[in-house]
Amino acid sequence: MNKGKKLYEGKAKILYEGPEKGTAIQHFKDDATAFNNLKKSTVEGKGVLNNRISEHILNNLNQIGIKTHLLKRLNMREQLVRLVEIIPIEFIVRNIATGSLTKRLAIPDGTVLSKPLIEYSYKNDELGDPLIAREHIIEFKWANKMDLDLINNYCLRINDFMLGMFRGIGIKLVDFKLEFGRVNIDGKNEIILADEISPDTCRLWDVVSEKKLDKDRFRKDLGNIIQAYQEVARRLGIFHEESNISEVKFGKPQAVNIKKK
Ligand code: UDP
Repeated sequence: MNKGKKLYEGKAKILYEGPEKGTAIQHFKDDATAFNNLKKSTVEGKGVLNNRISEHILNNLNQIGIKTHLLKRLNMREQLVRLVEIIPIEFIVRNIATGSLTKRLAIPDGTVLSKPLIEYSYKNDELGDPLIAREHIIEFKWANKMDLDLINNYCLRINDFMLGMFRGIGIKLVDFKLEFGRVNIDGKNEIILADEISPDTCRLWDVVSEKKLDKDRFRKDLGNIIQAYQEVARRLGIFHEESNISEVKFGKPQAVNIKKK
């Protein structure tokens, strides 16, 4: 499929114009960044894995009635998606306290929350994606009350679904980030799930060992990043039909190549 012009380049993905109006091609890169771009690296094979894992999760969400931007996966690194106007908010859903929450409020790492906690960050790299309140979102017209109620409801449904899905394969869903976008489908304005859901955007801990199977391996220099992402893909059953794909594409575990930029 022919790509149009580049619309946007982010830290881990590039968005190109799609073949038809209202579509785009989302390309997954191997680049990894953390701490607001202070730490940068390339993790060979990460884009391929995130493409497949995100496709799997978004397809499953579609099947339970949550509309997403994903139309279809095109190849190892690309997806055809609906072009949406991204709402500039990161919706963070937490089940267990870790990361910035523990630092900000001195909550012990690993505290199980009594119910899912939704936080909002304003998507702005220059400001370091600051935490904001619902009232900021409404005041600055990034979304209205009705939109926010709808999105909060989506966040909780997505969390319920993913908690069960990951629990079934021996993984705790600790927290994750979602993005939503506005789109007109058949003359109707809708808010749909956009971006990606992958070990780059979730914290995933093995149920038994609490081993981290997500981007914290990169953030905290824990090593074996690709092996962890592959483990998530393998447990999700993604490589069943093509069981040799991981070895062919990524080499044996010790062959993983992390290039510092
Ligand atoms: N997250 C993300 N992109 C961001 C910020 C956070 O995907 O720009 C995800 C992150 O991977 C984690 C969750 O959102 O699963 C909560 O992250 P947190 O607020 O604890 O931020 P961090 O500790 O990474 O700064």
